[in-house]
Amino acid sequence: MRKLLFESLIRSPLTERPPCADEAALVELAGAVERAARRRLGRSLAIREIDAGSCNGCELEIHALNNAFYDIERFGIRFVASPRHADVLLVTGPVTKNMREALDRTYRATPDPKWVVAVGDCARDGGCFAGSYAVAGGVGAVLPVDLHIPGCPPPPAEILKGLLALLERAAEPEGAARA
Ligand code: SF4
Repeated sequence: MRKLLFESLIRSPLTERPPCADEAALVELAGAVERAARRRLGRSLAIREIDAGSCNGCELEIHALNNAFYDIERFGIRFVASPRHADVLLVTGPVTKNMREALDRTYRATPDPKWVVAVGDCARDGGCFAGSYAVAGGVGAVLPVDLHIPGCPPPPAEILKGLLALLERAAEPEGAARA
């Protein structure tokens, strides 16, 4: 026991150092999303995340937006527990056949105006799971997708950039927005 305590005093921790915070860039990006949401919706942005069959790699990046490092709630961007409170459905993974109906019902439970954002390469066309007997396809095979954020998985800053692009497009006149 004494040996263990001594070793813990002289050894450096096994955990990795946190990445260098580019706080100014994050504040600018997340602040732009917040302002765009207020222009388009008149309030903060509510997001419902749906895992339609992902490996959870995309979820780790999405969850990071809520940790103490990114802390995007300070910009009025919230993840909500019910689609009935959501503006954006953030969908990850290929859509498995088991999740197809749940995804469709979640979409129908979300009030208008609503947007569907497909996150990650699998959400585009099934990615590395395409062709599996258990997979129905990308998110577009089940729902109308407004925006796709590429990456395997896309990092948090790319997800924020995608949300900003979505809100800026949504502020454009009808027709131009879904082009
Ligand atoms: S895009 Fe990559 S990280 Fe995301 S669900 Fe597919 S395999 Fe996993």
